[in-house]
Amino acid sequence: MIETVRPAAGIEEVRLEDACGRVLAEPILADRDYPATARSLRDGFAVRSEDTPGRLRVTGEVAAGAVFAGNVKRGEAVEIMTGAPVPHSADAVVMVEHTKRDGEFVSVPAAKAGQFVNPQGSEARAGAQLLPPGSRLGYAEIAMLAAVGKTSVHVYKQPRVAVLATGDEIVEISDQPLAHQVRNSNAYSLAAQVRTAGGIAEILPVARDTEASTRALIEQGLAFDLLLISGGVSAGKHDLVERVLAGLGAEFFFDRVLIQPGQPLVFGRARGTFFFGLPGNPASTMVTFELFARAGIELLGGRREVRLPFALARLAAPFRHKPGLTRFLPARLSDDGSEVTPEPWHGSSDIPAMARANALLVAEAERESWEAGDLIRVLIK
Ligand code: AMP
Ligand code: MG
Repeated sequence: MIETVRPAAGIEEVRLEDACGRVLAEPILADRDYPATARSLRDGFAVRSEDTPGRLRVTGEVAAGAVFAGNVKRGEAVEIMTGAPVPHSADAVVMVEHTKRDGEFVSVPAAKAGQFVNPQGSEARAGAQLLPPGSRLGYAEIAMLAAVGKTSVHVYKQPRVAVLATGDEIVEISDQPLAHQVRNSNAYSLAAQVRTAGGIAEILPVARDTEASTRALIEQGLAFDLLLISGGVSAGKHDLVERVLAGLGAEFFFDRVLIQPGQPLVFGRARGTFFFGLPGNPASTMVTFELFARAGIELLGGRREVRLPFALARLAAPFRHKPGLTRFLPARLSDDGSEVTPEPWHGSSDIPAMARANALLVAEAERESWEAGDLIRVLIK
C-alpha cells in the first residue's frame, strides 16, 4: 500500500494561521542564516576567552534587540543578555552567576572559546532546506514557517473520503434500534478517524445487503479520492462487497491480513480510486483503519512518510493469547506511559472496551505468553 498510494488531490495556498495539521506541498528554505548573527545563550559577560580567568573592565552593555557598536579589546568585557548579538572579537560568554562585579570591573572564571555562544548559521545556513514537501505541519513546523516569514503556504488539498456502511441490520444513529438492529456507529467512528488522518469525510447512505444497493453506493463512493466500506467483506452469504467490486472491474491488492480484530480486510482500486473494505464489527473497523487506512489517507494527502505510534510498555499482569495472528487489543497505558493493562474485552463488537482504552496492546503472532513486567509493544490511541 505504501508503495502504491500517491498524492491524490491538488495543491492550495492557506494562511499560516490555518496551516496546522496540513501537509506541505513546497520545500521551505532558510531565507538567511539561523541564527543570523552569533548570539548569546546566557545573561552574563561577553569576553575574549584568552583573557580568562581574570579581572576585566566592563566597557558596555548589549541587550537582545540591540547591537554593541565597538569591539571587546584585551582585558575588557561587555555585559550581555540572552539572545543579544555577541560583540565582534568576543568569543565566549560567562554566566553572570559565575562572576563578581566590582564597580567598572568584573572577575570572571576561565571560559572556553565558543562557550554559551550560538554561532551564526549553526542551526541552518541561508538557502538550506528546512522542511521537505510532504511534512505534516505541527507546532514546530509552524514555528519554522513563521521564522522564515511565510505568511501563507502551499499545502496539499485534503483527500475527500467516502464512508459507506453496509448491512440490513444497520439503522440511523437517531433511530431506536430493535433488538436485532444496531446503530451505524462505524460511519461516525470512520468519519472521525478520516478527519484526524487529514481527510474530509462524507458519510453516504447505508448500503443494504443487495447487489443493486451495494453497487449503486459503491459507484457513488468511487467518485471520491478514497472509498471506505464497512462490513460485507467476511465469508457470509450476504457479504457482497468483494463480488460487487469485482463486477466493477476492481483490482485487489490484498483481501486478508493475519491480525485480530480485522482479518478480512480488503484493499484495492476500482475506476482509479483506492478502496478499503473494512470488516464491520466496530473494533475491527476501528483497528484496521488505524493500521492501514490511516496511512492510505496520509499518503493520498501528500505525506511521504507514514509511521504508526508504537511504544514499549511493561505489562501490569501476565498475558497470553493464541499464536498465529497478531492481536491489537484495547488496553490502558499508565499516566507516565510505562505500564500497560489489557482491558477486559468481549470480542470485536466491544465498543465500550475500545472507548475505555487509551492504547492497543500488540500481541505478536509468534509468542504465546508474557509475564507481568515483560515489555510489550503498544499502539498509542
Ligand atoms: P459484517 O462485517 O458485515 O459481517 O458485520 C459484522 C457485524 O458488525 C454486524 O453484525 C454488526 O453487528 C456490526 N456492524 C456492521 N456494520 C456496522 C456499522 N456500520 N455500525 C455498527 N456496527 C456494525
Ligand atoms: Mg454485514
